[in-house]
Amino acid sequence: MRLIERPEEMRAWVMDRHGRGVTVGLVPTMGALHEGHLSLMRAAVQENGTAVASIFVNPTQFGPDEDYERYPRAFEADCQKAEAEGIAAIYAPDARTMYPLEHSTYVEEEALSRGLCGRSRPGHFRGVTTVVAKLFNAVLPTRAYFGQKDAQQCAVIRRMARDLDFGVEIIELPIVREADGLALSSRNQYLSPEERQEALGIHRGLRAAEALLKEGARDAATVVQAVKDEMGGLRIDYVELLDAHTLEPLATARGTVLLAVAAWAGGTRLIDNLKTQVI
Ligand code: AMP
Repeated sequence: MRLIERPEEMRAWVMDRHGRGVTVGLVPTMGALHEGHLSLMRAAVQENGTAVASIFVNPTQFGPDEDYERYPRAFEADCQKAEAEGIAAIYAPDARTMYPLEHSTYVEEEALSRGLCGRSRPGHFRGVTTVVAKLFNAVLPTRAYFGQKDAQQCAVIRRMARDLDFGVEIIELPIVREADGLALSSRNQYLSPEERQEALGIHRGLRAAEALLKEGARDAATVVQAVKDEMGGLRIDYVELLDAHTLEPLATARGTVLLAVAAWAGGTRLIDNLKTQVI
């Protein structure tokens, strides 16, 4: 497995593959890899001639009071895990390489990025779209793989890729969970045993809402309340029922809906969601 730290080297490596007609899958990550990341890598390896994973803790997507400095970093272990999945190259520029002095150009999506996490984390999605655009320009992937865990991020990136003619196919894969339902996240490492127990309320809430929708409930307020009822102990940021494609809030569930949750367990902000079709 190759370790590549500079965009021009990354592009030369990938252009050689494209020249031979090899398709390229990209899995962007911030490292501290877990099964969620590895499920994306498995798909990227399977569905393409070659697969690249990027590992970059992106400073521009963290707010000034967020956890950029203490975000978990495990580079050596990450490389071993990626190699075991068949990843051919890791792209891991340092922050100075990604954002050279006097970097002053950003990519901003102006509709889907406004609600949910965009409301609570101003500037977050601008950081995400900027870094993903730069990763697409360096890696020139045929397909890029993202997790439904960050459903709003997937929607924003799909829109950006279309709007800016990246010609990259965006693939969204299901949420990988612990046996007890907690969605895997690099930030779960921050949780104390008590907080981890409280965090399970998110998944319980989503399951309760799913059952209600299956039974025919369509009133958004009722469905949202069912989630909140299971979330005692957590500080709720948002629980919203939205159209999964437009991310417009719904009063009545219809079509493909996204039930999105963000909440704090102690000092750790967690997100999770459920996507389902209602008729
Ligand atoms: P991150 O390293 O947190 O930026 O995540 C990198 C990619 O992995 C993103 O596309 C995430 O949506 C995805 N991801 C994170 N957690 C999970 C999970 N539990 N299941 C599936 N994908 C995930």
